[in-house]
Amino acid sequence: MGETLRGLGVGSGVAVGPIAKRGAPPELPAAHPVDDVETEARRARDALVAVSADLAARAVRCTDPTTKAVLDALSMIAADPDLDEEVRSLIEARTDAPHALHAAFEGYRELLAQAGDYLAERAGDLADIRDRVIAIVLGVPVPGIPDPGEPFVLVADELSPVDTAAIDTSTVLALVTERGGATSHTAIVARSLGLPCVVACPGIMALRDGTVVAVDAAAGTVEVGVQGARLVELRAEGADREARLAAVGGPGRTADGRAVALLHNIGAAADLDDVVDASFEGVGLFRTELLFLDRTERPSVAEQRDAYARVLRAAAGRKVVVRTLDAGADKPLPFLARRAEPNPALGVRGLRLARELPDLLDDQLRALADAASDVPGAEVWVMAPMVSTPGEAAAFVTRARNVGLPKAGVMVEVPAAALRARELLVECDFLSVGTNDLAQYTFAADRLESSLQDLLDPWQPALLGLVASCAEAGRLLDRPVGICGEAAADPQLAVVFAGMGITSLSMAARAIPAVRLALAGRTTAECDEAAKLALGSVDAASAHAVVAGRHRGVGS
Ligand code: PEP
Ligand code: MG
Repeated sequence: MGETLRGLGVGSGVAVGPIAKRGAPPELPAAHPVDDVETEARRARDALVAVSADLAARAVRCTDPTTKAVLDALSMIAADPDLDEEVRSLIEARTDAPHALHAAFEGYRELLAQAGDYLAERAGDLADIRDRVIAIVLGVPVPGIPDPGEPFVLVADELSPVDTAAIDTSTVLALVTERGGATSHTAIVARSLGLPCVVACPGIMALRDGTVVAVDAAAGTVEVGVQGARLVELRAEGADREARLAAVGGPGRTADGRAVALLHNIGAAADLDDVVDASFEGVGLFRTELLFLDRTERPSVAEQRDAYARVLRAAAGRKVVVRTLDAGADKPLPFLARRAEPNPALGVRGLRLARELPDLLDDQLRALADAASDVPGAEVWVMAPMVSTPGEAAAFVTRARNVGLPKAGVMVEVPAAALRARELLVECDFLSVGTNDLAQYTFAADRLESSLQDLLDPWQPALLGLVASCAEAGRLLDRPVGICGEAAADPQLAVVFAGMGITSLSMAARAIPAVRLALAGRTTAECDEAAKLALGSVDAASAHAVVAGRHRGVGS
């Protein structure tokens, strides 16, 4: 057996295949003075136009709402007349097109980084567009997803939104990145595509294209140089797992019947296309931000009502947990032209916006209540993001009840809420733990900062302890407590959460079968034991290892 590389496993399953690395960015050739300014400027402009059009076309094809919004934003950046102007003036100063583009993108990146918020996040993607534009000018292959002509394991330093929008799951078997973390873009996309993935895997970029590897998402390992009998063995195991995944259906439950509802995270009605079947148990997180993105005016109550009614109809009478607008920090919305905050993640975001704009929340609740009355049999639950105190929970519930919404709950995303979970739950009908933000605030580690991903690992015992206190509150008050952060999509963590007494797990549709299989393979006693082991561990790695070791081979 060859060498084994280790990283952070995301999702589940094992994929075996040859690696192909993301195309490298073009090398900038030595600078040369420009003779013909017009021709040089046209080369640069044509490349910008081509990349902008390509990004816009990918956005149209893209089904993931978040990636689609990013692609649209990047397409607009590539078409920005200011960028073109800057490139032209550099070329007029006799800089050649590749160097002019490089310099202009750098200036643009600094501008965006200073703008903060959403634009600052896009600054990181600029290098990706820049490389594409320069490759076109140089006439060399455009960096991005390779095409080795056979199914492959995609390897990269880190994948960009443009890359992930181009992933074709009929040829990409798994994703492995040298950098990144549990909540990085690659990890989120891997979960939503249902691909085995290992991130933060040092050494992977040093392998040669074509090297056959086995990517084990549950173990977080990449076995290098798989061949012969080992290859046959792994392929047989994979086929067996596929068969077991296909065979297990119905509602989420442990082997001895403890129910853990498996719900969907969605951003629009289209996310429910093709998923509402006999096993469909409902929506655990409807992120409503999509309707508000790229708007300069807030959507009217009537427009919101239509959009919500579409989702309720698509859910065919199953429960839909609708989250009210979670604007701010990692989800800035242009129509809310608010004053700049020194630290948006700790600022007026989520439910806190209702302090300044109460009518924004009331309009949304009204639209939701109207939508519910438009759709006979709809089961609407509403919840608020970024709630910190029982008082905030009580005020939110009052507003929801005032418009006739019968079920109102809150998200637990900040440690204060988890520490007072019981008091919060006294005020409302249910809790939903947002582990993405709860990890960020518990560890004071920005969820978008790839160098801090070890702290954001959902196996961190401190995070698990907070989740356990929410579950305990639910048991005491006999009210539902679910999880809707990315952690819910990890089959082994799902077992841990079931052991804590969590009543539902909400995730991307593609992640559900593996979680269902993992739960079906454990008894209640085994789940309880997994929870105890994880909670009693000293760090994330040992929590993961002790649970994976105990239960390896059962359903994962
Ligand atoms: C979370 O924070 O875990 C969550 C589900 O909300 P979002 O990722 O949309 O902030
Ligand atoms: Mg959140």
